[in-house]
Amino acid sequence: HAKNRVAVIGSGNWGCVASRLIASNTTKLPSFYDEVRMWVFEEVLPTGKKLSESINQANENCKYLPCIKLGANVIADPDLENAVKDANMLVFVTPHQFVEGICKKLVGKLRLGAQAISLIKGMEVKTEGPCMISKLITDILGINCCVLMGANIASEIAVEKFSEATIGYRKDKEVAIRWAKLFTMPYFLVSIVEDIEGVELCGTLKNVVAIAAGLVDGLDMGNNTKAAIMRIGLREMCAFSKLLFPSVRDNTFFESCGVADLITTCLGGRNRRVAEAFARNGGKRSFDELEAEMLHGQKLQGSTECFLSEDVIKNNFGLLKVISVCN
Ligand code: NAD
Ligand code: 13P
Repeated sequence: HAKNRVAVIGSGNWGCVASRLIASNTTKLPSFYDEVRMWVFEEVLPTGKKLSESINQANENCKYLPCIKLGANVIADPDLENAVKDANMLVFVTPHQFVEGICKKLVGKLRLGAQAISLIKGMEVKTEGPCMISKLITDILGINCCVLMGANIASEIAVEKFSEATIGYRKDKEVAIRWAKLFTMPYFLVSIVEDIEGVELCGTLKNVVAIAAGLVDGLDMGNNTKAAIMRIGLREMCAFSKLLFPSVRDNTFFESCGVADLITTCLGGRNRRVAEAFARNGGKRSFDELEAEMLHGQKLQGSTECFLSEDVIKNNFGLLKVISVCN
């Protein structure tokens, strides 16, 4: 069998931690080349140095994941085409709003038989309706795309605290198993589920609930209310997912990608933190302003794209509606 070569598209907080996980495994698994190319959206640091050069010199990303060594076999590459050209396993892990543009640049540039996995929690909301990121990747690039979602606050995995994750796949179990091998560590346990839409929607929709949880915190409404928001949120996530894709399975919501990710994000995620600040400021400072001030280049997850579609209103998704109005 030919060896697999991995490229990671994205080098933010989770992009770097994912690269670190993968790079640790590629050195151990004979079916993978050691080197992991990580595409970096180039930025110039306040020191005047380019981010990609800084990563390669220090073996760490001083902006998005400071003080964590990535592994000597992680090579930062600001040239997208070059980063992917020899890879047959592509890991997409940028904020969702950049994926479409990135994919368009990759058309015709990929190795034959390439496979993808998306770690991106979000969706593209188009006039004709929502489009899952894995579908966007498949549609634009014509390649199969699995997803990996879960209760995975990147800074905790970076210091090897225990987490679980869920891979969602469509039909091809062998490919899902190969992806699971690439990510699994003693402190990072990965299960596979044949429900790609369910897994991806869990990762996407919990970000909306996390905004509600942050608002509850900012209004000092207490733990019972926060638990109620999480419970109602989970129920709405499930109902909304099934409305979009009737094939979505109930069991998926009990995997790490479901209830566990909802809990961790409502306790420790960035959407919660910024929404708390939004409420404490009495809604006088916008999410955009707070994002720029509090997240240092990281992106809020979907605060401006909460759904206000007719379906949502007709089906009375109260929480999603409230959040949309808050925006
Ligand atoms: P991030 O928010 O930390 O970083 C922002 C990234 O976007 C940086 O790498 C920046 O260089 C890049 N960027 C900025 N402008 C860009 C442009 N025009 N084109 C392309 N890239 C640009 O990113 P992240 O935390 O790695 O998040 C990526 C995805 O992973 C998101 O969907 C997020 O929901 C998901 N995720 C994050 C975590 C986490 O703990 N951070 C955990 C699980 C999943
Ligand atoms: P952040 O909100 O900190 O990016 O965490 C998101 C996440 O997806 C955790 O599983």
